[in-house]
Amino acid sequence: MSTTGHRTHEAGETTVDTDVIVVGAGPTGLLLAGDLAAAGLDVTLVERRPAGRSNLTRAFGVHARTLELLDTRGLADALEATGTKLTRMRLFGRLSLDLGRLPSRFDHLLITPQYEVERLLEQRAADAGVTFRHETALNGLRQDADGVTAELTGPGGTPLTLRARHLVGTDGHRSTVRTALGLPFPGSSVIRSIVLADVRLTDEPAGSLTVNGTGDSFTFIAPFGDGWYRVMGWDRTRQVPDSEPVDLEEVRALARRALGTDHGMHDARWISRFHSDERQVPAYRVGRVFLAGDAAHVHSPAGGQGMNTGLQDAANLSWKLIAVHRGEAPDPEALLDSYHSERHPVGAMVLRSSGALVRLAMAHTPATRALRAVATTVLGAVRPASAKAIGMISGLGISYAPAPGAGRTSGRRAPDVPLREGRLHELLRAGEFVLIAPDGAAPALPPLAPTTAARVVRATWKDPARRTTALVRPDGYVLWSSR
Ligand SMILES: Cc1cc2nc3c(=O)[nH]c(=O)nc-3n(C[C@H](O)[C@H](O)[C@H](O)COP(=O)(O)OP(=O)(O)OC[C@H]3O[C@@H](n4cnc5c(N)ncnc54)[C@H](O)[C@@H]3O)c2cc1C
Repeated sequence: MSTTGHRTHEAGETTVDTDVIVVGAGPTGLLLAGDLAAAGLDVTLVERRPAGRSNLTRAFGVHARTLELLDTRGLADALEATGTKLTRMRLFGRLSLDLGRLPSRFDHLLITPQYEVERLLEQRAADAGVTFRHETALNGLRQDADGVTAELTGPGGTPLTLRARHLVGTDGHRSTVRTALGLPFPGSSVIRSIVLADVRLTDEPAGSLTVNGTGDSFTFIAPFGDGWYRVMGWDRTRQVPDSEPVDLEEVRALARRALGTDHGMHDARWISRFHSDERQVPAYRVGRVFLAGDAAHVHSPAGGQGMNTGLQDAANLSWKLIAVHRGEAPDPEALLDSYHSERHPVGAMVLRSSGALVRLAMAHTPATRALRAVATTVLGAVRPASAKAIGMISGLGISYAPAPGAGRTSGRRAPDVPLREGRLHELLRAGEFVLIAPDGAAPALPPLAPTTAARVVRATWKDPARRTTALVRPDGYVLWSSR
């Protein structure tokens, strides 16, 4: 399968051949590269940062569906040990969303810094044999019928050319891959001058995530669980560029305005100011090149969806690339296209929902404040509305279009059902399809499966009353079911 090799040209420039080039070692690129390498593909991950220098801790919330995804890679328990579990989200003082009823082994939101997620994913990728090229930046690319050529600058400014069958741009919101493809990134700035800080508190708020606002300002506090708190604040009357200095007193004043107290904030370990855009690329695939994570979509931090959505993009794409590289996809082009058709609508939905949340928080005219009151009351009082909101925020409610004629549950998330051989999500750690059948049945593989019978993990329902047969994709969604 591997096409790996080295060629040196007259100019001294080296060309390295690999199966897949992943550009950008943020959470999205690390998960994707690890998945591909674990399946035996030759993967090169290029990252412009030096080795060992982590991204700043931006994301801090890991939702239930992402924890399930990490569980199917054997990483969730280690990540859970690094953070704190929240079972309740309090929004705008009046709305309390109960996450404790989530239909998952992970019935909570895990608060942990993004660097902990990256640390685990980087170790897994390294163990799986990914070739890391740090201090290496992609400058441009070209593709032809056989592959993609990436033009890079390595350490010390050395030019390097990498050639691969496929390339994935996981290079963040300013993606060079996206620019090289000539794709637009339409959208706008949704909120400016948000202040962000990690602080300690003398007077700790009661163990939940706290958000409140006046319409002209809001503040959000989330506990990391180790004594540090993430604070995010915004004030309509103080709209300044990201470069404007910010200090702890500004954070404290914001909190007092929105929450009535600053909870005795002190010892900030870092503070910054940023703005947030809402943008989505129109195509997640152009020929042999794909975009995933922030390179494909960015949205407001409300709902804490960015990293979570990027990780789900990676999980959706990895098994499809693996099937195509192994030559096991009956229709490789259709399978690769399904990455866009499944993930683009999810990105669009996240843009809408996180945008709606931040606009509710910023509501300040009588009409928009009335709307906020209605929205929060409906969400709080009407079970189906709040269940739907929680399903979307946690990721558990996301499903894909069913494959034609593939049964009633095709496209749906496969819950972590007990099987004779263990939990389903444990069996998915093989990175392969799982075929679940009733006791005594030995069903054939459905013809649409992009895999071979020899690779499929076969399992039996623990509950003898279950009589269906189901084929679960490596990313934990049902591909086919007998009913
Ligand atoms: C304040 C804030 C709070 C947030 N909170 C949350 C949250 O609670 N939950 C959540 O899910 N998300 C949250 N997010 C969003 C989250 O941080 C991002 O969605 C996530 O980091 C995206 O991951 P990524 O791997 O797609 O891209 P990135 O993390 O941006 O990684 C891209 C990588 O590509 C590298 N790179 C860029 N260009 C090149 C190049 N040309 N060549 C080589 N390498 C390159 C970069 O150095 C970087 O390492 C938050 C964001 C902010 C700003």
